[in-house]
Amino acid sequence: MTEALSPPEIRAIHKGCRNSFALGKSKPMEWRSGQLNALECMLAENETTFCEALAKDLGKSVTEAFVYEISFVISASSHARKNLANWMRDRRVSTPLLVKPGRSWVRPEPLGTVLIISPWNYPLQLCLAPLITAISAGNCAVIKPSELAPATSAALAKITPRYLDSNCIRVIEGGVEASTELLELDWDHIVFTGGEKVARIVMTAAARHLTPVTLELGGKSPCIVLPDADLDIAARRIAWGRFTNCGQTCIAPDYILTDQRTAGLLIPKLQKEITEMFGEDPKQSKDYGRIVNQVHFDRLTELIYDNEVSIGGQSDRNSCYIAPTVLHPVNRHSLSMQGEIFGPVLPIMEVAGLEQAIDYICSGARPLAAYLFSKNEAALKQMVDQVSAGSIGLNDVMMFMAVAELPFGGVGASGMGTYAGESGFRQLSHEKAVLKRSWWPDWRLRYAPSSSRKLKWLRKLR
Ligand code: NAD
Repeated sequence: MTEALSPPEIRAIHKGCRNSFALGKSKPMEWRSGQLNALECMLAENETTFCEALAKDLGKSVTEAFVYEISFVISASSHARKNLANWMRDRRVSTPLLVKPGRSWVRPEPLGTVLIISPWNYPLQLCLAPLITAISAGNCAVIKPSELAPATSAALAKITPRYLDSNCIRVIEGGVEASTELLELDWDHIVFTGGEKVARIVMTAAARHLTPVTLELGGKSPCIVLPDADLDIAARRIAWGRFTNCGQTCIAPDYILTDQRTAGLLIPKLQKEITEMFGEDPKQSKDYGRIVNQVHFDRLTELIYDNEVSIGGQSDRNSCYIAPTVLHPVNRHSLSMQGEIFGPVLPIMEVAGLEQAIDYICSGARPLAAYLFSKNEAALKQMVDQVSAGSIGLNDVMMFMAVAELPFGGVGASGMGTYAGESGFRQLSHEKAVLKRSWWPDWRLRYAPSSSRKLKWLRKLR
């Protein structure tokens, strides 16, 4: 991380961005598409630097860094760029008879200056994906990357000004102090990605200025496996979802719900997939990441009870390594079932069947994602009908993120709002309502004095 900015410096940046917005710098479509283009160039031309930073922060392999951070952001940006004209267009809405002749439409207009506060697990993606939407909607933006991914934070702070318009887009590094200082200021929207505890601080601070917030949080995302599922494929997809980025993914399947017999069949298949992906000793695999720091390492190793370990369980504090670990059987009181795991630990809890699994999920906080593996269409439908979650994945995990037209965001304790794609564009815009009346005729119906005749007509025209 570069040297921290002082509070007056932070306030000056905030003021500068607000002035640029007031001058309309970020509003034209050419500015928006130009910035998105520049952002794509920034990633393409600095791929190696960003990959090195991500390896330093999280032991990410080049492939993981490229697929889930760099390429993901480039695709999101080019999708936004290509759809910009369409998203920005005025939208006609029908005008009722009472207000005719006249035309009504909605004009999406930028909100102003957006503060983006990001976590460390996908430290590049989670700074730049909200930025793409902020830019698309014509806003200025200040990004506060996570101090727990210092190499990526420093790379962003150094490289961004070379490509993006520094009058409108800034990166401010730092930890709690910088965030606290930023949250004192008056923003037009705050996009926060992180944990529930800090989300409450952010929302409280935002309330002081009546600033709207988008909160992208986490939670325990359940994964139900029914006995009729293709267990080979289910095991492969679940192992991929759980152990990518060393399990530090907000939408990773957090725990499995399945019956006793299926659990017995699934565990060896999970073991086979783990070995196929990361070899006999995942510690040696170039494709297996590390826990971000020793604080999280200690938190995670506490969840691993020896008598629950079915697969893995090995760890090394010095290198923040925790092997891909499966715990079975766990119960609802096990430590691993108390909160979001956010690491390479996958508990399996036995349930009698789908009903019990859904009851269990619905009795807790609404998750960011919920998954079901089954070939039974009625079961898949039941899942969609009965489980409230940010996103539902049927027969796969996490892949909904690759569908640009799908919104992404939590519900209840897993968050509110979205910043992805068109729905994100709408959220970081104000949908300004416009009505244009013709001068003639100017019916006297709505004007005093009232009369029963007028009322009769008003009833008809309603
Ligand atoms: P965190 O809440 O600890 O930190 C997030 C950001 O808030 C960081 O930039 C940090 O500097 C800042 N911050 C920390 N303490 C603060 C304070 N007291 N006041 C103001 N700002 C403060 O989260 P984290 O540990 O970085 O990330 C992990 C969490 O994020 C998990 O719960 C995970 O599920 C969630 N997450 C959600 C998504 C999503 O898209 N929904 C994506 C990634 C991570």
